[in-house]
Amino acid sequence: MIRAGRLHRALGLLRARPLPDPAAGSAPPSRRLRTGHPQRRDIFADLEKNILQFYKKLKEALPGSDWTPMRITKGLPPERADVVIVGGGVMGWSVAYWLKALEPKRDTLRVVVVEKDPTYSRASTVLSAGGIRQQFSLPENIQMSLYSAFFLRTINEHLGVLNEPPIDIQFNPSGYLFLASEDEAAKLEENVRIQRAEGAEVSLLSPAQLKKKYPWINTDGVAVASYGLENEGWFDPWSLLNAFRRKAMSMGVYQCFGEVTSFTVSSIEVMTPEGELTFSRIKHVRVQMPNSLEYQPVECALVVNAAGPWSQKLAEMASVGIGPPDTQEGIELPVEPRKRYIFVWHCPDGPGLDCPMLVDTTGVYFRREGLGGNYLGSLSPAEEEEPDIRDLEVDHDFFQEKIWPCLARRVPAFESLKVKSAWAGYYDYNTFDQNAVLGRHPLVENLFFITGFSGHGLQHSPAAGRAVAELIVEGKFKTIDMEKFSFKRFVSGEQILERNIV
Ligand SMILES: Cc1cc2nc3c(=O)[nH]c(=O)nc-3n(C[C@H](O)[C@H](O)[C@H](O)COP(=O)(O)OP(=O)(O)OC[C@H]3O[C@@H](n4cnc5c(N)ncnc54)[C@H](O)[C@@H]3O)c2cc1C
Repeated sequence: MIRAGRLHRALGLLRARPLPDPAAGSAPPSRRLRTGHPQRRDIFADLEKNILQFYKKLKEALPGSDWTPMRITKGLPPERADVVIVGGGVMGWSVAYWLKALEPKRDTLRVVVVEKDPTYSRASTVLSAGGIRQQFSLPENIQMSLYSAFFLRTINEHLGVLNEPPIDIQFNPSGYLFLASEDEAAKLEENVRIQRAEGAEVSLLSPAQLKKKYPWINTDGVAVASYGLENEGWFDPWSLLNAFRRKAMSMGVYQCFGEVTSFTVSSIEVMTPEGELTFSRIKHVRVQMPNSLEYQPVECALVVNAAGPWSQKLAEMASVGIGPPDTQEGIELPVEPRKRYIFVWHCPDGPGLDCPMLVDTTGVYFRREGLGGNYLGSLSPAEEEEPDIRDLEVDHDFFQEKIWPCLARRVPAFESLKVKSAWAGYYDYNTFDQNAVLGRHPLVENLFFITGFSGHGLQHSPAAGRAVAELIVEGKFKTIDMEKFSFKRFVSGEQILERNIV
């Protein structure tokens, strides 16, 4: 590689050398031509042509069309790190930021974030609807929302970088409005009781109060509604991801664009009261560089699995879930990609500026998108109708058949609307109980999770990232006790259900 590079440079130098000057007394070039020997310039031009042809053939023969063997791969991660975070979405960068913010002494932790897709074209974070709400049923989820709302309100104090423009995540304060039918009313009231006990400001509305507040709503089939009075709304997901990334990098976190394709793991069998168990440790993370055959093994102390919808695949690389069935080693991370659509429509006579993030009794949700009569919304498909996840194609019939009828019933103005655009993204869906998976794996001792948020991860990223960093740096959760979210619940079979999944 280097020899060819030198040769190339040498060729450049020789070509640049001027021809002899006849006026200076040396032999004129024409006389040299008559000798019958080819000119030096021609020899090198031919040689260069041959080398270029050789390059071309070599390139065609190798996988990865942009690969060139004549350059050293740029952006290789360091050979050693304390913490390797796999996944550069909002969760990965949140953990990275908090690790640096909480490290006991400056520059004690070498942290690397590895992201396989610099364009983030399929990452959940950038494809999300950007909503934040306090209205969950699980106290830990409510606490995470409250913490995150505080964090977002004071974001420049946390993530501001000297001499860089202030952060603007384009926060739109607006309450979530949950509507409940007669059958669901008691559940909604119970949720509100829990939310208030955790310090959230949520009001209950009767159908008459609802109609008075929002005259454009058809209240048929609504028994009760809950409305968030503060700490709710939506914001720009990319701005939050980028703010975490910019701050973390300013604090010394390494960013590496490459794909983690495997781990080197060492294992030991130990007799425990639960029987013989295999405990493992990740020694190296293998990072495959883009458009290259080159990879870098990174020796590390800890790995954080922040791979979002792909986190089960990553966990498997560390031997999670690959043991025999009915053993602890055989319990896989129950997180998979589930495709969710977002539709944007225009309706000039739709709800005005006071339009909340409305979640209908049917599960259909929508909110205002900007100020020009545009709206954004969707519905999670029923379990038996989960769409194919091989691509991110949008099924427009889903809007026509499942979403629009519900919208038009709830808001008569939506009977005439025009869909303007749509996209799809993947939820990092926890099939066990639709809740986060946070903390250390019980058998792979240096593997930590931050995944499985099933559609509410963006808003919880500040709190969840902090929790995982606390566990790593301090050895325990400090701000919010997240013990419930540990992987151990898949071993015990104890679900922690969240009732308010949208
Ligand atoms: C349509 C939709 C709407 C949503 N709406 C909301 C909402 O309103 N509010 C809310 O709070 N949440 C919402 N969410 C959920 C939220 O977006 C996610 O929970 C959150 O963004 C997850 O962040 P993440 O960093 O874990 O995942 P991601 O953003 O997907 O990041 C994971 C990254 O890991 C990388 N990666 C994977 N494997 C590897 C590997 N082997 N090597 C290197 N890199 C790898 C991927 O390329 C990816 O960039 C929504 C999601 C969707 C899809």
